[in-house]
Amino acid sequence: MYQIKTDCHVHTILSGHAYSTIEECAAYAAGRKLECIAVTDHFCPIKEEEFGDKAVPIINLTVLPSHIRGVRILRGMEADIVDLEGHLANYNVMHEGKSVLEEAWKDLELVIASVHRGPGKMETDREDTAANTNMYLKVLQNGRVNVLGHVGRSGYRFDMLPVIREARRLGKALEINEASARFGAHIPAVCRQAAQLCAREGTMIMVNSDAHSAHSIGLYTESLRMLEEIHFPERLIANRDYQSLEEFLGHNL
Ligand SMILES: [Zn+2]
Ligand SMILES: [Zn+2]
Repeated sequence: MYQIKTDCHVHTILSGHAYSTIEECAAYAAGRKLECIAVTDHFCPIKEEEFGDKAVPIINLTVLPSHIRGVRILRGMEADIVDLEGHLANYNVMHEGKSVLEEAWKDLELVIASVHRGPGKMETDREDTAANTNMYLKVLQNGRVNVLGHVGRSGYRFDMLPVIREARRLGKALEINEASARFGAHIPAVCRQAAQLCAREGTMIMVNSDAHSAHSIGLYTESLRMLEEIHFPERLIANRDYQSLEEFLGHNL
């Protein structure tokens, strides 16, 4: 049985459709004996005039202590991938001569990049395998991105193998996302396939809850069952504990 002692994908009330404060998240994490959580609220496209309300919460994360209730709190974001060139949200929205994306991630310790569907999100051809594969490759090549979020449920068709090989080459991880199963009965099979390929290719994964409520933090029942069934090598789970997470991120946190 794997023990995953960190949860690197946690949403708080800053996301607007999540229900817990950072304090509540830390309390649940402490109760479940986690060493670390990453606060990764959604970073979505905004208009220039919305800068204050929409972007400042993520930019101001350095006011938080490094630990709450003994749990290390990593400053992170889940950035929307916004086009087939692999750009992330607000790369082209400017504030005082800098892009809002640059401003937002200057103090961050962990960046997840994900495709989300819905109004205002990416609306391109989900069946264009070559273009979507290239999009994920470009995202991985972005030096600030650490993890590709929930590729199993993007709804965009892509070739997994080149993406997984590029992630290994660059020392990045694919996320196995506990919340993904809620998005369709076919999704667990895609996640399993991704995990099998990562195991074969030696690519790191991260097992995360994607909690939108503190109650879900650190709970990975379905993901761990699947990983056990395929005998996934534990050493390839980047966030199995705080030390492995530091090694994966390549610096002392
Ligand atoms: Zn969300
Ligand atoms: Zn997401």
